[in-house]
Amino acid sequence: MTDCVFKQPISLLLRQEWKQFGRKCQWLPNVGFVRQRATAAASAIPTADARPAFQWTQHHKPNLGPPTPRDRLSRLREELNARAPSSYLTDNFSRTHNYLRISVTERCNLRCIYCMPEKGVPLSPPAHLLTTPEIVHLAHLFVNQGVDKIRLTGGEPTVRNDIVELMQKIGKLRTSGLKELCLTTNGLSLHRKLDAMVEAGLTGVNLSLDTLDPYQFTIMTRRKGHDAVMRSIERILEMKRLGTAIKLKINCVVMRGINEREIISFVELGKHKDIEVRFIEYMPFDGNKWSQGKMLSFKEMLATIQERYPRLQKVQDHANDTSKTYQVPGFMGRMGFITSMTHNFCGTCNRLRITSDGNLKVCLFGNSEVNLRDILRESNNGEPIDQEGMEAIHEVEMEARSSRSGDHLPPSLTGRDNQLLEVIGAAVKRKKAKHAGMGELEKMKNRPMILIGG
Ligand code: SAM
Repeated sequence: MTDCVFKQPISLLLRQEWKQFGRKCQWLPNVGFVRQRATAAASAIPTADARPAFQWTQHHKPNLGPPTPRDRLSRLREELNARAPSSYLTDNFSRTHNYLRISVTERCNLRCIYCMPEKGVPLSPPAHLLTTPEIVHLAHLFVNQGVDKIRLTGGEPTVRNDIVELMQKIGKLRTSGLKELCLTTNGLSLHRKLDAMVEAGLTGVNLSLDTLDPYQFTIMTRRKGHDAVMRSIERILEMKRLGTAIKLKINCVVMRGINEREIISFVELGKHKDIEVRFIEYMPFDGNKWSQGKMLSFKEMLATIQERYPRLQKVQDHANDTSKTYQVPGFMGRMGFITSMTHNFCGTCNRLRITSDGNLKVCLFGNSEVNLRDILRESNNGEPIDQEGMEAIHEVEMEARSSRSGDHLPPSLTGRDNQLLEVIGAAVKRKKAKHAGMGELEKMKNRPMILIGG
């Protein structure tokens, strides 16, 4: 926190610098950015940097007592900012999509046996991957359309060098209606970045851990690091004890003959700890050697737990939950089951995904994708857009807008964003009522899970 107090004036100065740069630059086709004075007002969809400094809310700081009038005001402001998903994010089955998962890297520091081959997967050339300003721009576009939950995933998101900076920028979208900023991570290096991430606005962590045995960990992930993952879990629990409002869920993919004997140990993690363990049915993706025999169904897992804990109770799920939640009476924690293989939850699906290379996927199991990156980069000759470029493009777009008369676009939309929304809206409208089931899924072509992001 103390750090923030000192950093704030510096970031303010930087913002002013950017604004000045934007005013002095103009984009000319086939020429590039030309320094000159522009007359346009500030950008319609400015980058997070150009918006007012993020206000901390009760959600992020340790609970120091009853909410103050200022806390209540912040919450009220957030509620006012929240909006229902727009028609672009509503599909033909009236499903609204307020949850966006963004993969921020293809790289991973583990090689989980169910996720990717030992040698890894072919990675995209760096220039094909979204830059930080591009991710922030898309995040803002989606938040403006009613997305209120963003999850960063990967690959392993914590291996992205500027992950904290990226989260700081996305965290600022709370002023535009973002309510939750979550991370899916293997937890290997999370403990080192966690505090800064919470400062940036992190509200939830889904941490993947498939075994509580360090030796089994090296078999399942083909790497060492069990201790480091446990350290991350402990740090989150410690922060929760100190009053930080951060949700922790542990994702455990259960494979027959590999880790199914640990189901009860995972359930018992929640005896004295406020942890939700989610048992995931093993799913088929390109290159993960899935077979039905290796998959343990929800029913089998439930039966195993009921045998040990016959008083296991079903807990009310939230409207868009992907998991079926249960609790052992008297336990602090809970458990959930993600039953993608045996009971799809497509009817309440509210999720959209953006891959690291900038494709929108409307269904985890669908192989159709639309490219958003190339639309974003049209005004930059197809090249990756850095912070400087993004600021200048916003400025130029604003200038173009202000000089056009009878513009049909809503005031907050530029031509490029309108084009993006048309493409996004059409993809959402093509979303199927439900994805294929077992028997078909394993034959379908799809990216490896590591290139989608879970
Ligand atoms: N590296 C991060 C992590 O480990 O959480 C994020 C990416 S990982 C692909 C996201 C989630 O997908 C993890 O919880 C992982 O367990 C899950 N996952 C990967 N392959 C899977 C599979 N074949 N079946 C079910 N879940 C899978």
